[in-house]
Formats: sequence, C-alpha cells, structure tokens
Amino acid sequence: MSQNAHRIAAFNWIKGQSDLYEDVIPRKVLEDGFVYYNQRITLQGPQGIWKPAGMELPLSITTVSDGPYTDSFDANGLLRYSYRGIDINHRDNVGLRKAMENEVPLVYLRSIVPGKYLAAWPVFIIQDHPGQLCFSVAVEEMALIKPKLQYNKNEVLATDDLDQARRLYLTRQVKVRLHQRLFRERVLRAYQSQCTLCKLRHTELLDAAHIIADSNDEGLPIVPNGLSLCKIHHAAFDKNIIGISPDFIVHIREDILAEVDGPMLKFGIQSLENSHIFLPRNPIEHPDRDRLSERFDEFMKTG
Ligand SMILES: [Zn+2]
Repeated sequence: MSQNAHRIAAFNWIKGQSDLYEDVIPRKVLEDGFVYYNQRITLQGPQGIWKPAGMELPLSITTVSDGPYTDSFDANGLLRYSYRGIDINHRDNVGLRKAMENEVPLVYLRSIVPGKYLAAWPVFIIQDHPGQLCFSVAVEEMALIKPKLQYNKNEVLATDDLDQARRLYLTRQVKVRLHQRLFRERVLRAYQSQCTLCKLRHTELLDAAHIIADSNDEGLPIVPNGLSLCKIHHAAFDKNIIGISPDFIVHIREDILAEVDGPMLKFGIQSLENSHIFLPRNPIEHPDRDRLSERFDEFMKTG
C-alpha cells in the first residue's frame, strides 16, 4: 500500500467528518482517526505537527489559538504555521520541510474553541521562513492533486501564476470559513446555546446573528457584535419585526403587535414585547450598546 493511498484516504475521511460536524470537528474524533486496510490513521496527536505511525512524512498541522483569526494568516494572505519550538532542525520541522520539498499535501487544523477544529485540505507548505521560525501554507484543490497522488508521480508540481492565484483564493476562502465558525461558536458559547429572546436550546436551530451587518471580511468575530438567535427570531430581527433597544429590552413593531393570528405570532413574537433579553454571564460578552443603538434606530425608522 503506497503512502499516497493512505494520504488520499485521510483526505476523504476528513471531508466526511467536516461535513458531519459542519466544519467544527471535535478533537477526540481527530485523535481516534479511522482504520484503513487494518491500519489506524490518526489525524491529531500531542504535537502540532503530526505524523501517524507508519507514515514517513507529517499528515497534519494544528494551530491552537485563542486570538483573532488574523493571527493564523500572514500579510500575503497565506496561512502562517509556526515551527515546533525554536530549533529549526527539530525533526518535526525537518519533516515539514521535506513535505515542502516533495510537495506532499497535508491537512491543516485550526482551533475554533477549545477542543474543536476547522479543517482545510489539501494544503502545501510553500515557503520556509527560518528567520521568523514559520512556514507559509497554501490551500489547493483536491481534484488537482488526486491524479498525481494516485499514480504516485514524484515530479514536483509546476506552479505558475494561475496556480498561485488559485491557491491564494482558496486560502482566502478558509479565512472566511474560519471567521464564520469562530463567530458562531463564540456567540453560541457566550449565550450558553440559547436564543437570547426565547431561550430555545436547540443548537441546530440557532444562529449567531450580527447586530451590525458584517460586510467586511476583516471584521473580527467578536461576541459583542453578536446575538444568539433561533431561526425565526433571527429572521424577525433582520427584517426589523423585532428590535432590541440599548437597554436590552425587546420591542415588537407596532403593526405586528396589533395583528391577530395563530400561536406562533402570539406566543413566539407578540409576547416578547417589553421583555428583557437573555444575556451572557460575562458582561464583557454582552451586546455592545452603541451597536444596538445604531441598529435600533434602523428598527424605529421601519416601525
Ligand atoms: Zn428564539
């Protein structure tokens, strides 16, 4: 069984897990891995640069960060991956350098909240920066590398300008996904996975809503610009049927309040009038009053 077959199996498996867990894979799943022709292939170990037993070169690299997602990217928009320690010749760092020289694709894992990871694959180590003790990493398209891996060709992939532009684009897509996932996980965690209006606890029915629309990719995924809302309340908030004043009080648009309809309107919306929203325990994570105020002005204009 070739090394590449194992690697392809790992990419296929991580795709399945990423779909199953909607981009946020628990560490335990990655540590347990999967069995391929009687051999267990694990995706994560105690160290960030991970080479499962039986593989010659690393299979995955993991970044754990509590900081803003920007710290995972360099000024050129590529992923930044720090060396293990400060010894440039540590065997893990040497392993990644070999992966770079042989254009061996890897899986990139970035923590979203403790114990949960977003995965991107395949990624290539494309630059080595010994002075900064880090590598630059780019995302590639699976369809483009599969034939090479399957036929076990050893020639280095030619990368022209078009390839570089594509890789940069794909890497940027990871940044957007990372932003979205960080925001959702952080907002839902702050609100203990409950709707801030009705306290519904089904995470599959909850969204992390922006108070001020976030059209800017560079915007930080910060909890004070978020609200944990169930699907119906998210839509009602977005359509200015429901407003939240800066003193955290819920307001229902006047014409909606006057309507007579079934239980969804009566109990799901009208009954919320003048109620106090459910807040995160930590005051730092409360909705930002300035943002709420700006958004509430918009609500008042539509009323
Ligand atoms: Zn709700």
